[in-house]
Amino acid sequence: MKFSNLKLTSPYLEHDPVFYTRVDPTPLDKPFVISTSQSAAKLLGVDEDLNLDEKLLDIVNGSQKLEGSETFAMCYSGHQFGHFAGRLGDGRAINLGKINGQNLQLKGAGLTQYSRQGDGRAVLRSSIREYLMSEAMHGLGIETSRALALIGSDTDVARERWEKGAIVLRLSPTWVRFGTFEYFNSTGEHAKLQKLADYVIEESFPHLKNEESMYLKMYAEIVNNTAKTIAKWQSVGFNHGVMNTDNMSIDGRTIDYGPFAFLDDYEKDYICNHTDRDGMYRFSSQPAIAHWNLDRLAVALSPIVNYEVAEDILDDVFRPAYEREYNKIMNAKMGLYAEEESDKELSYQLLRSLERATIDYTLFFRKLSRYDGNKSDILDICVSRDSMEKWLDKYSVRLEKETQEASKRHEKMLAVNPKYILKNHILQESIVLADKGDYSMVQDLLKVSLSPCEEHPNLDHLSKSAPMESKNIKLSCSS
Ligand code: AMP
Ligand code: MG
Repeated sequence: MKFSNLKLTSPYLEHDPVFYTRVDPTPLDKPFVISTSQSAAKLLGVDEDLNLDEKLLDIVNGSQKLEGSETFAMCYSGHQFGHFAGRLGDGRAINLGKINGQNLQLKGAGLTQYSRQGDGRAVLRSSIREYLMSEAMHGLGIETSRALALIGSDTDVARERWEKGAIVLRLSPTWVRFGTFEYFNSTGEHAKLQKLADYVIEESFPHLKNEESMYLKMYAEIVNNTAKTIAKWQSVGFNHGVMNTDNMSIDGRTIDYGPFAFLDDYEKDYICNHTDRDGMYRFSSQPAIAHWNLDRLAVALSPIVNYEVAEDILDDVFRPAYEREYNKIMNAKMGLYAEEESDKELSYQLLRSLERATIDYTLFFRKLSRYDGNKSDILDICVSRDSMEKWLDKYSVRLEKETQEASKRHEKMLAVNPKYILKNHILQESIVLADKGDYSMVQDLLKVSLSPCEEHPNLDHLSKSAPMESKNIKLSCSS
């Protein structure tokens, strides 16, 4: 199947028009394809080469439509930095329709009724980040929206300086957000809220359809999915940066990549978002913020579920789901399979040692994946060695309880501890080149991002640690 031969449907348009506004994309000037993800295209049933599809560019630029495509922007609201923000909605994302369980959306495709003071555009810099990161998260096994294509253009877009406009074609099984429910709760349109819940069950939780207490069961699944996704973020060192409820997907996947960052050196209180002055969305706070956001969702659902029961569900489900997932992943990262009571404590001690040692989080686990009792390989990359040395001694004792051969353990650890992580300094290098018209690094980063635990001998340089001056930097929200 060829991409441009896809036929879309738009089940969301069956809703009352207060859920959305129909809008046509505003094409960019002199557009050109920068990169495509064949891996994302497979989700749509596309097996023909995207680069040979002569209509792809026009479709991503919005100057041509796929068959059946009726374009629209979705209405939602949300809590931003702890405060209810009123009506927001897709201010620069335009939905194309749905196929194979994936909703296609153009980000940066022009003004909508929800653009407020914005220009409906996305700049190349932030579009490269979102495009690559969507695919990288998938490569890391973390639920996420995907990105099928990135196009650039000659359209000038005003930010702190003039930049060029770009569009990402992104895909997700749902674009409903916690904030979509918050909108209908805030307007008091409870019948519409219930219709939205029915739609979400149909789209994301079809096994719950017509079950008793299906809205509460839906809520429990949202809590469970969200907890698991956040556990994965914490295990891989991902800081989302803008965990507003309008950026929380109703099926718990990662969406809306802005000033995100992976930890360079392990620093539990790292804040990646420059505008987050109080550190509300700091790395270590992400589980608590997710819990708070889920509570906002429970409030929003209260016209159709009993709020006290939903709160009990939140308390009963979130923490155990988070801890189970987090501990499972951390044990795999440490190569511990014998399930010892003390493993949880060992992983917490490791985090404390990592912080004291001032060491690159990703590189540490990659090195640990080859640990054979010789400590110097790891200690040599620590700024401060003492606490790491003590931890490695404890770890060596713990490894004696493992029955598996060391080589087998190493093999398994290398398959879960990524070598290639989309760190900011690497992304920044690719953006600087792209600004000069060289997109080769975007292409290389896409390749390593889709199989981050494998060796890519010619692309070794993409795994390097950040130089001192750009470690754990803060990023601007402008995009
Ligand atoms: P974000 O924090 O990027 O998720 O965006 C928050 C809200 O602002 C959403 O409703 C976006 O659609 C909207 N928004 C962000 N940037 C723009 C823009 N350049 N033009 C229009 N709306 C925007
Ligand atoms: Mg957003």
